[in-house]
Parts: sequence; C-alpha cells; structure tokens
Amino acid sequence: MQGLMMDQPLLVKSIVEFADRVNPDVEIVSFTADNPRHRYTYKDAFKRARQLANVFAGWGLERGDRIATLAWNDYRHFEAYYGISCSGFVAHTINPRLFPEQVAYIINHAEDQYVFVDPMFMPIVEGVAGHCPGVRGWVVLTSAEHMPETSLDNVHCYETLLEGESTEFDWPELDERDACALCYTSGTTGNPKGVLYSHRSTLLHAFASVWPDVMGLSSSETVLPIVPMFHVNAWGTPYACPMVGAKLVFPGPKMGDGAELTKLINEEKITMSAGVPTVWLNLLAHLRESGETIESLKRIIVGGAACPLSVMEEFDSHGVETRVGWGMTEMSPLGSVNAPTPEVAEMSGEDWDKQRLKAGRPVFGVEMKITDDEGKELPWDGEAFGSLKVRGPWICSGYFKLDAGDAHADEGWFETGDVATIDPHGYMAITDRTKDVIKSGGEWISSIDVENAAVGHPKVAEAAVIGRYHPKWSERPLLVVVRDKGGEDLTPEEILGFLEGKIAKWWIPDAVEFVDELPHGATGKIQKVELREVFKDFAFPEE
Ligand code: ADP
Repeated sequence: MQGLMMDQPLLVKSIVEFADRVNPDVEIVSFTADNPRHRYTYKDAFKRARQLANVFAGWGLERGDRIATLAWNDYRHFEAYYGISCSGFVAHTINPRLFPEQVAYIINHAEDQYVFVDPMFMPIVEGVAGHCPGVRGWVVLTSAEHMPETSLDNVHCYETLLEGESTEFDWPELDERDACALCYTSGTTGNPKGVLYSHRSTLLHAFASVWPDVMGLSSSETVLPIVPMFHVNAWGTPYACPMVGAKLVFPGPKMGDGAELTKLINEEKITMSAGVPTVWLNLLAHLRESGETIESLKRIIVGGAACPLSVMEEFDSHGVETRVGWGMTEMSPLGSVNAPTPEVAEMSGEDWDKQRLKAGRPVFGVEMKITDDEGKELPWDGEAFGSLKVRGPWICSGYFKLDAGDAHADEGWFETGDVATIDPHGYMAITDRTKDVIKSGGEWISSIDVENAAVGHPKVAEAAVIGRYHPKWSERPLLVVVRDKGGEDLTPEEILGFLEGKIAKWWIPDAVEFVDELPHGATGKIQKVELREVFKDFAFPEE
C-alpha cells in the first residue's frame, strides 16, 4: 500500500518561492569589484534571477544546456545560480585558478553555451576563447560604466542585459532528477572530471547542511561563505541560507585578505563562516598582528583539507568554535562534520585534541564504510585504516560523459580515494589520500597527523610530508617546512625534537627540508604530486 502524501518534486525553484514569501527582506551583502558594500534582499535577488530567466528565454537555449560562471562569491553570481538552474539549465561553476588549458578543456567538455565572467577574470577568457568555439557569448558580471575593454567578440554586459526585462517569470516544471549544477574536480592527475548535481540532490544536501550538528543554520545566523562558489557551490551555503532565512555576506575577491575579512565579520556581525584552512591562517595572522577581535563570530566550518590543531586553539582564544568538515566535489560536498556528542564533549587534554581533529560523524544521508585491500569491511575501532567508501542521495553515481571507472567499482558505493579510520563514537578520521600514503616497512604512516603536529611549532608556517625512497624501509617520510616570519633560525633538530611524543616514534620524519613556499592547487590544497616531483632526486642521508 502506498502512502497518501503529495508527490512534490524537490526543485531549486522551491527555495526561491519559499524565500520570496517567508524571508523576503533578509539581506545579502557583497563585496564586488565595482562596489565594496552592495546590499539588497533575497526578494531583490530573486527578482533579478527572473529577469535573467527572461534574458535566457530570448537566447534559443535547450533544456539541460550548460551555462558557465567564472566568478567570485557575490550577488550577481548568486542570481546566476538561481536564474540558470530554475530555468532548466545547468549552472556550471568554473574555478578561475585552474590552468588556462584546463579551463578551456572544461568549457569544451561541458559544452558551455554561455560563460558569465567577473571583470577580473577577463584575461583568462580572452586567453581561452580562441580554443572554445562552442561558446556563443561571454557575459561580463558588471554594469555598463564598468565594462572592461576587450578583444572578445560576442560580449554582453550583465546589467545591460537585465535592464528592461520583466521581473515576472513562470519557472518551468522540471523533474527533480534533472541536472541543476555542474562542478569539475580539480584533477590533480589527469583531466578534471565533471560532477553533475540534480535538483533533488541539491535540495536534500541543503536540508542536511542546516542541521544543528552540521552547519547549524537558522534565521538568527549571518553567514560568510569564504569557500568559493566555484568550489563545490560554496559547500551548499547559497542554497541553505535562503532556505532558513540566514543573512548572507559574500566576500567577493577578498577571501584571502585577513584585514578585509575582519572588517566584514565585525561590520556585518558574522556569526558563522566556512572555508579551507589557508583562509583561516590569513585571518588569524591579521588578528595577531593587528590585535583586532572578532566578537560576533561563533562558529566556523573548516574543510577541504585537514585543519591544524594550532588553528583551532587560536580560534578558541577568540571564542570561536571550530568544526572540521569532510567532503568532496563528488559528495555535494558534505560527508561528515565534527560536532561534539555529549560523551565527546566531556573529553579533555590530549584525548580532546585528538578527537576534535577528526573529520567527524557522517551526516544523516551519507553511509560510510572502510575496507581493506580485498574489499573486506573493517571495524569501527579507531585503529583499523582502510579505503573510505560512501553512498547516499547526494553522492555522484558517475562522472559527466565518462564511463564508470575505479571510483564506482564496488557496486553501489563511491570510492573516495581517502584512507580513514572510524572510531566507536562514529568519528571518522582521514589519515591520507590513497595516492599520498607513505608505507614504511609495510606499515602506513599518516602524513596528515605528522603535518598537523609540525604546524603546531610556532616557527612553522606550513608543512607537508611526502614519502621518499629508502633502501631499508622502502619509503620514509620527508618533512618539508615553510618557516614562519621570525622563524629563520628553525633547525631540523628543533622541529624533529618538537615532534617527539606527539606522534608515534617511527612516524618521525627522517629528514627536514626548508622551502620558501609549497605548491598549492586550484582549491588551495598542497600539491603533493608536484612536491614529490621537486624532491624526486632526494636521498636520505646514510645511517
Ligand atoms: P579534489 O578532490 O579535486 O582535490 P575536493 O574539494 O573534492 O577536490 O577534495 C576532496 C578531498 O579533500 C577529500 O577526498 C579529502 O582528501 C580532502 N579533504 C576534504 N576535507 C578534509 C578534511 N576535513 N580533512 C582531511 N582531508 C580533507
């Protein structure tokens, strides 16, 4: 017997319709190239999204066509998200930090019809346009008076396009399984792969992201997504915030600017923010140097890479709760979040330090398992390491226009490429990416744990551990360190001595190399592939 409930499709347009009625006057504040403090409301944003839909209606597009954005976090990008998806097209966000060849590859692979570009990224599109014959036009996200000079053909000004268009538009009735957004993985090896989100997956992910033990969003929160809208849809915040009526503050191009972020946090009374570890290092450095405070900020979500304990402790001193989140482009991205259960909240000292560093408990909707090399499931005892596999309604079942690959070899599960433990409390901890694992004498060393401990040294700005050939152990860890300002006298002995007692004895690296900077990828993560290349001829000193 079937239930007798309405079969209402889960569509992105329902966020627009709901927020328009229930949260119309909640503010969206943005920093843009042409205005350091643009403000308007959800109602205004959705009016303009409908104007954009009317523009599309005149372009002869077909349902499911991809329309790309190369843009910062700001209100025009937000309007494009909704205008594109709710019209039945696919909002394809492109990471401007990718190599131009990758940007061109992605545009062509996705068959993008139009590309919406922030004026700052014009040099990128001018460079790639000649290689992207399928693009019918480039829309610059600015007003007529700020239109840049350009050598491109088929260029439109965003504000001019909207001008005179009606603010009324009847959104089409779509299937909830229709695609609404597309995001390519950063592709550290091989070409980037497209992850195609559906209206249904996006809505379910947004529902889950607001829960108290996840991002804890509500109408009382003011949210600053520092994580870019081109990095897995700013972790879903542009969908979740209008759903609950949280005020949204977009930092535009200022996400790496500690001083500007501090100003935004204090002036807009930000309560919650989300970003990768690098942005928090910038913010904390500014606070340390300026002596400024961030009183309104209650909570941050740190994800995309492991968060050092030193970052958490510094945020503690500002009264900010740090929650580690783990996920991937393929997971929309949320997989797990580290919020303390009552048992965990009672921990103290080293136990607490260890626990809070973990990637956290799976969010309802995400099933997890860890398996050994034969695919046998491993226990949740906090000790056993294995390949982490996941499944759920917002996890990709395949890549756009690609045949099923290794990631989907275990029927019904997605292989994350991460190696993890899961403890009896249900907290998962990432120990490494499969391809970065260091195997010393047949045993795994967690490079993440070693890096975390090293970054705790006050003279260390950044650290990475890679495995290098060793005649006896086959591989041993090499620690590569960027010294912090004022730490020029840091020696290998000092840092190795500091690690003693913090990690297993046999995990202590065999050598330390100092560099001026580490290679970073398009989403701010350390590029171990490149680092291994830099140290490809490295040999450990003979014993
Ligand atoms: P890409 O896979 O293209 O680098 P993603 O942003 O999808 O881009 O990255 C997902 C990966 O980032 C995860 O598989 C994991 O290795 C790493 N990651 C994400 N969050 C964390 C975290 N909290 N701790 C450690 N690693 C993390």
